[in-house]
Amino acid sequence: MSQNILVINSGSSSIKFSLFDMTSETEQASGLAERLGGDDASLTLKYSGQKTTLDLAQSDYRSTLSVIIDKLTEIGLLETLPMAIGHRVVHGGEYFSDPVVVSTDVMDKIRKVIPLAPLHNPANLAGMEAIAELYPDIPQVAVFDTAFHQTLPAKAFLYGVPYELYEELAVRRYGFHGISHQYVASEAARRLNLGDQHGIITAHLGNGCSAAAVVNGHSVDTTMGLTPLEGLVMGTRSGDVDPNLHQFLHAQKGWDIDQITNLLNKESGMLGLTGLSNDMRTIEQAANEGNERAQLALDVFCFRLARQIGALAASLPQLDALVFTGGIGENSRTVRAMVIDNLKVFGLSLNGELNADNGDEHGVISGENGPKVIVVNTKEELMIAKEALALV
Ligand code: ADP
Repeated sequence: MSQNILVINSGSSSIKFSLFDMTSETEQASGLAERLGGDDASLTLKYSGQKTTLDLAQSDYRSTLSVIIDKLTEIGLLETLPMAIGHRVVHGGEYFSDPVVVSTDVMDKIRKVIPLAPLHNPANLAGMEAIAELYPDIPQVAVFDTAFHQTLPAKAFLYGVPYELYEELAVRRYGFHGISHQYVASEAARRLNLGDQHGIITAHLGNGCSAAAVVNGHSVDTTMGLTPLEGLVMGTRSGDVDPNLHQFLHAQKGWDIDQITNLLNKESGMLGLTGLSNDMRTIEQAANEGNERAQLALDVFCFRLARQIGALAASLPQLDALVFTGGIGENSRTVRAMVIDNLKVFGLSLNGELNADNGDEHGVISGENGPKVIVVNTKEELMIAKEALALV
């Protein structure tokens, strides 16, 4: 029987996908269908070192997913239909602390938490419904970005607002990037031989950024909250601001709640601070060339991250390791060095040469003494495929 698993991440106007051969756990193809629903929708497919792009005449979820599967079959990567489809689902609310096989009951629960992820969960559901219609025999598995953080204690997930808001509307901190935090924490514990009893802080730094405190394999605190806006400064998201900023901007500028929400999610963070880009490579280059705003934004990004790492340490019995992952965490020696420079109080230090090489054979970049600092490349898609395989 085929051991192919297709992993899908459906967004409001895009579908990202990866095809895995689970006998060898290798990614055979990946791609992105974008601008779905528009006149210029397209599908880009990468496989065996090749990249092809085609226009999508019909670009609803159903037609697009059927083209993806047809294409993978046409190029010989799928002899039969995939044995399972793994969906990355952004928000599982308090319903899901583990991956699950998709059923009508599961879809109803994902629907119930739409108010918590109004852009993402409807897209995830649309992807599942399209597959169920097209290929009713392929089992589907939902893997949630929030699930790993369901072990947060109430003291870490409650906001200081009236408790009734939690009871009535489930207003609380959920956390995201859970698939990545779980994987890199377990991988760091394994590579560093930390055993069962350990305290780790993981920093996932991509376009979105979050950090988590992990004790003995369980998430106990994290920087993102009700939505992914809370916490660290990110590519275009502000991270933490004074909650009264909304009122202030409304009074001073006359902006309504949607404008301010858009500003904080799409026009802030590194893009807002630099006025240049949300891309860390561009920002680092500009800073190296003497752009002061770019340098200032880097300072803010790294200081805020260090400050949050300090806060996460309050949940740990001891700090054994700090893990960097995501496009920035895995590649930016500058960011890692600046963050660690702000964390001397924890005895953290770097080995400059190892940091410049993105780590030794295990990814370790720390100096002689103190907690370990390690770079672990995240593998979110493969983790989703593994979870799907385990459940079917
Ligand atoms: P996403 O969150 O969309 O999955 P990634 O995890 O790929 O994104 O991270 C994208 C970020 O990683 C971008 O800001 C990019 O500039 C940054 N990045 C990638 N490579 C490097 C590098 N060599 N140096 C600094 N930043 C990098």
